[in-house]
Amino acid sequence: MNTTAEPIKKGLFHTPFWLAPEKNTFENRSVRFQELAAAEPGEWRLYLELLAAVCAAQHKVALRHTFPLPEKHSGATVLPEAAAGEVPAAFYEVFQDLLNEVRGNITHTAAAETQRLAALGKPEAEALARRVLAQTGEEADRPAEIWVQAALQIVWTAWAAQLAEDDVPPVEERVHCPCCGTEAVGSVVLIQSDLSGFRYMHCPLCNSRWNALRAKCTTCGDSGGIRIQQVDGASAPGLPPVFSGAHAESCEACRTYRKLYRHDKQQYADPVADDLATLGLDIAVGEAGYERGGANPFLLHGG
Ligand SMILES: [Zn+2]
Ligand SMILES: [Zn+2]
Repeated sequence: MNTTAEPIKKGLFHTPFWLAPEKNTFENRSVRFQELAAAEPGEWRLYLELLAAVCAAQHKVALRHTFPLPEKHSGATVLPEAAAGEVPAAFYEVFQDLLNEVRGNITHTAAAETQRLAALGKPEAEALARRVLAQTGEEADRPAEIWVQAALQIVWTAWAAQLAEDDVPPVEERVHCPCCGTEAVGSVVLIQSDLSGFRYMHCPLCNSRWNALRAKCTTCGDSGGIRIQQVDGASAPGLPPVFSGAHAESCEACRTYRKLYRHDKQQYADPVADDLATLGLDIAVGEAGYERGGANPFLLHGG
């Protein structure tokens, strides 16, 4: 038997299972939040503007730190699993830097919260991060969550960016991220030449993407009862074209839905930003009796 490891041959039409985070994920997301905020007629615009500032700060802070890759996990995920609640060594410094970076770019209310958080000592900040990761947060933690999430995203995204395709072998599981175990916030149908028409799930923590067949429900695997619903001119007259990439993909078998963004309809659609600008779609699909799959880290949930 030949024991020399053969490099995996990639055919002409090789479809990668896993895609690393895009280089300028946070910068692009900030620009997208600004575009969406500009098109938002209601008060919600202020929150989209705040998130544009948060993502711009994420981009700057990410460049100022180094993130040594943790030793490869032998468990179910390639990177440390988020839900295990282990706080990365870089967290506290990144969190402090992020809170400083946004200063002056945000509203008074948000500034008061960031000042409170900046005053936390390392043990308190890490305990807070542990609760956010393990999803055991209390009501009092809610206002802090977007800031903690934003700092954690910086670390996990920098880690994922250092992985190669071969580090992330294909798995059957398609709902949770193969790198960090976080549930996909949504999926994107791409338009890049070799990947045109392929659907990739998107991780809101490490910003990895992984391939999932379009014909199957990503939650239960059923292929018989998939329906695609979207916000369109008929359901929401006067809706600006900036929102037109968002669809809700619902399944009759498990009665869940997950959001899907078609880049052929809106090439800048981002599964984190566009999600928050199209909550009307969630309300409509929720009223029709479907339960949402995949949480958005920047959407505050009631206690
Ligand atoms: Zn992930
Ligand atoms: Zn299903």
